[in-house]
Amino acid sequence: MKIICIGRNYVKHAQELKHDVPTEPVFFMKPDSALLKDNKPFFLPGFSNEIHHEIELVIKISKLGKNIEAKFAPRYYEEIGLGIDFTARDLQRQLIEKGLPWEKAKAFDSSAVLGKFLPKCELGNLGNIPFSLRRNGEVVQSGDSHLMIFPFDTIIEHVSKYVTLKIGDLIYTGTPAGVGPVAIGDRLEGFIGELCMFDIQVK
Ligand code: ZN
Repeated sequence: MKIICIGRNYVKHAQELKHDVPTEPVFFMKPDSALLKDNKPFFLPGFSNEIHHEIELVIKISKLGKNIEAKFAPRYYEEIGLGIDFTARDLQRQLIEKGLPWEKAKAFDSSAVLGKFLPKCELGNLGNIPFSLRRNGEVVQSGDSHLMIFPFDTIIEHVSKYVTLKIGDLIYTGTPAGVGPVAIGDRLEGFIGELCMFDIQVK
């Protein structure tokens, strides 16, 4: 399986990182070794002094597909979950300045936290999914799928033009504003509505 991540999918987040609002989806990938599941702790890596949390809704692909039109995209996923796209912001800044790929800043081990999934029928209107991240009990990021620049089905259409989507692939759909650093001892809890989807410790 592969992990595809969408960058800059919320206007306020693009602005907080001083990027232009994109006219088509930006995507990058993480390897399967980046997955951190089952509320396992996240160990801060030694190569960065600035690991940021990015809370994101996650699509789980349930059907093989290529060149999927947006109108047919709902047939390719049954569940939506929540995760964190951990980012070594200091490294990412250096790489961007040099025009280099982001992998070192994005694809490292345990950088893709994955919580529980909810079936579409339980979520109701997919265009209106509120979610949030609490750091040590305080809400630090909150978003809603209606604020996405590119909604789920547009993302699937775009990504599948370039990359075949396979069963079990994950698409992290971008983070809202409020990204910030994590520190040893932090507790990070992700919520869809009032439902806790993951609860991890930073060590
Ligand atoms: Zn992200």
